[in-house]
Parts: sequence; C-alpha cells; structure tokens
Amino acid sequence: MEQDQQLLQLFQQTGALLEGHFQLTSGLHSPRYLQCALVLQHPHHAERIGQALAAFFEADHVDVVVAPAVGGIIVAHEVARALSVRALFTERESGRMTLRRGFSLNKNERVLVVEDVVTTGGSTRETIDVVRSAGGNVVGAGSIVDRSGGQVDLGVRGHSLLILDVPVYDHANCPLCKDGGVAIKPGSRGLKQ
Ligand SMILES: [Zn+2]
Repeated sequence: MEQDQQLLQLFQQTGALLEGHFQLTSGLHSPRYLQCALVLQHPHHAERIGQALAAFFEADHVDVVVAPAVGGIIVAHEVARALSVRALFTERESGRMTLRRGFSLNKNERVLVVEDVVTTGGSTRETIDVVRSAGGNVVGAGSIVDRSGGQVDLGVRGHSLLILDVPVYDHANCPLCKDGGVAIKPGSRGLKQ
C-alpha cells in the first residue's frame, strides 16, 4: 500500500477499476469504470486502505473522522480504526446534508473528513460545512481516489491515495464509439468474474 502502483493493482484485481469502453449510470461513456465498493467489500483491503490514508494525517491529532454516506462510511470507519478515534457519517435529510442518529461533535474537536471518491468535491464540501456548523474544527480532507485528476481544492489540507483521470463523454462525442466500439454497462453479465 506504500505505492500508488500497489493500490492501482488492488483496484484492478478486485474489479474496482476497469479499463475499456463503458456506459456509466449517468449515460455518459468512459474508457474507465471506477467502483470503490468493489475493493472495500474485502474488509482486509478496506483496513489497509484506511491505514494508508490515516498515515497522512497522523500528525494532525484527529479526534473524529467524518464522511458523507453511503460511499464514505466504510472509509471513515477504517481510517478511524487506524487512528483509534470515532467515526461518524453525514447523510441527506430532505436533500440537505446533516448529522443524524444522535451523532454530535464537541466544540473544536479536530475532524478529518474522508470520502471514497472525490469527483467535484461537492459532498466533501457539504460535509465540511456540516462539521463546522456542529462546532468541529476541520483539520484535513482525505479520499481514496481523486478522479478529478487533482483539480479539486477543498480549502483544507487534503490527500488522496490515488489520483486518476476518468474522462467522460456523451455518446455523440465519445472517441471510443467513433472508433466503432460498443460501450458496455458495468455490472452486466460478462464483466463479472
Ligand atoms: Zn462510447
């Protein structure tokens, strides 16, 4: 896990990262399919990834790890396990991100916000806002994958274990379609191992 290359291999081995020509649930086409849940379904991989991410924030004296549900829950749990602190998650209530289930933060608790995948940084930003409203002090933001190619700035110290460029195209502009290829829907028969 020390090397990006090892993590990349883990994603490929577990089918969490596929290369080819895919039609995503958004309808857009991409030469890459990324599904973090497929690597995190293996608890020992999730644990190692959590340790790797936690290592970058070891000096930040984190009190609590907070992630947006659903994708971030396991990440928060494993990072928090590695740091021996609490793991909370935010979730949407009537469209608005919030802390539920009796979760609360003490005033000025040092919070690390984590995610599985950062695309635009939107849900991480919302989670940072929730943490601050609840009295927490956001000391960093981490993700397993940054699929923006490193373009997102969250305004706090951040780290992603893997920076990936995942281009998307509408059907009409897809270079893979232009080459005569046919896009596959990930998860469909034939892709499963
Ligand atoms: Zn295409």
